[in-house]
Amino acid sequence: MGRTSKDKRDVYYRLAKENGWRARSAFKLLQLDEEFQLFQGVTRAVDLCAAPGSWSQVLSQKIGGQGSGHVVAVDLQAMAPLPGVLQIQGDITQLSTAKEIIQHFEGCPADLVVCDGAPDVTGLHDVDEYMQAQLLLAALNIATHVLKPGGCFVAKIFRGRDVTLIYSQLRVFFSSVLCAKPRSSRNSSIEAFAVCKGYDPPEGFLPDLTKPLLDHSYDFNQLDGPTRIIVPFVTCGDLSAYDSDRSYPLDEACALKKKGQLAKEICPQDCPMSTVDLLPQ
Ligand code: SAM
Repeated sequence: MGRTSKDKRDVYYRLAKENGWRARSAFKLLQLDEEFQLFQGVTRAVDLCAAPGSWSQVLSQKIGGQGSGHVVAVDLQAMAPLPGVLQIQGDITQLSTAKEIIQHFEGCPADLVVCDGAPDVTGLHDVDEYMQAQLLLAALNIATHVLKPGGCFVAKIFRGRDVTLIYSQLRVFFSSVLCAKPRSSRNSSIEAFAVCKGYDPPEGFLPDLTKPLLDHSYDFNQLDGPTRIIVPFVTCGDLSAYDSDRSYPLDEACALKKKGQLAKEICPQDCPMSTVDLLPQ
C-alpha cells in the first residue's frame, strides 16, 4: 500500500535525516524564510517551543550573529546543546520563564521571535485551538518585551473558526500580518504560520508581564488599555464523556438506554449502519 501524507516518514522526514536536521520542521522555517526573507539583517533571535531543536539549528546557521546567546531557545523539554544557542528550560506561559528570556535581551533586543509551539492535542477541536492560541499569545507577550521596533514575529497558528480574532490581535502590534502554509506542512493539518513583520506597538503601549497570559493570576475586571478584554474559556465534562459529533454502535446505545442514560434517540429505525445518534442528557 502506498504511503499517504499522514505518514510520519514522508519525504521531509527523510530529507531532514539526510541533511542533519533534528526534525522535519526545519523545512517549514526554511521555506518561510525563502518566501519572506525572515533572516535578513537578523543577528539575535528567540526560538520559543524549540525542542528538539531543528528551528534553532536553522537559526544558528542562517542568521548573522555570533557567540553564545545570539539564539535563545526555550522549551518545556531539555534538548541537546547546539553551538551559539542558549537554552532555557521552562513553560513560556509562566512568568518565571518569560522573565528569564526578557532578562537576556535587556539593552540588546531581538530582531526575530519564532514560536512553533504545539500543545498536546486532545482531538477536541475547540480545546486544541484554545491551547494553541494560549501559546501564541504567551509568545506574543514575550515578543512585545524583547523585539526591537521593526522586528519580526512568526508563530504557529491553528486555522480554526476564531483565527481572525488572533489576526486582529496581531495586527495591533505589527504593520503586516499574514498567514502562510509552507509546502512541508502537511495538508491534512490545520497548522499554518502567522508571519508578522514591522513590530510597531500602539502609542503608549507598555509591555506588562503582570497582564495576561502568564500565571493566570490576573483579575479579569482590572484590565485596561489594549489588553482590557479577555474572555475566559471554560470546558465542561472530561474526555471520557460522549462525543457529540460521533455515532455510537446500536448495542452500546441500547445498553445506555437500559440504564436510562440515553437522553433521546433520533429515529433509530432510519439510522444507517446500525447506529443511533445520542444527544447528551
Ligand atoms: N520547532 C521545533 C523543532 O524544529 O525542533 C519543534 C517544536 S514541537 C512541534 C512543539 C514543542 O512545543 C514541543 O517541544 C513542546 O515541548 C513545546 N511546548 C508546548 N507547550 C509549551 C510551553 N507551554 N512552553 C514551552 N514549550 C512548550
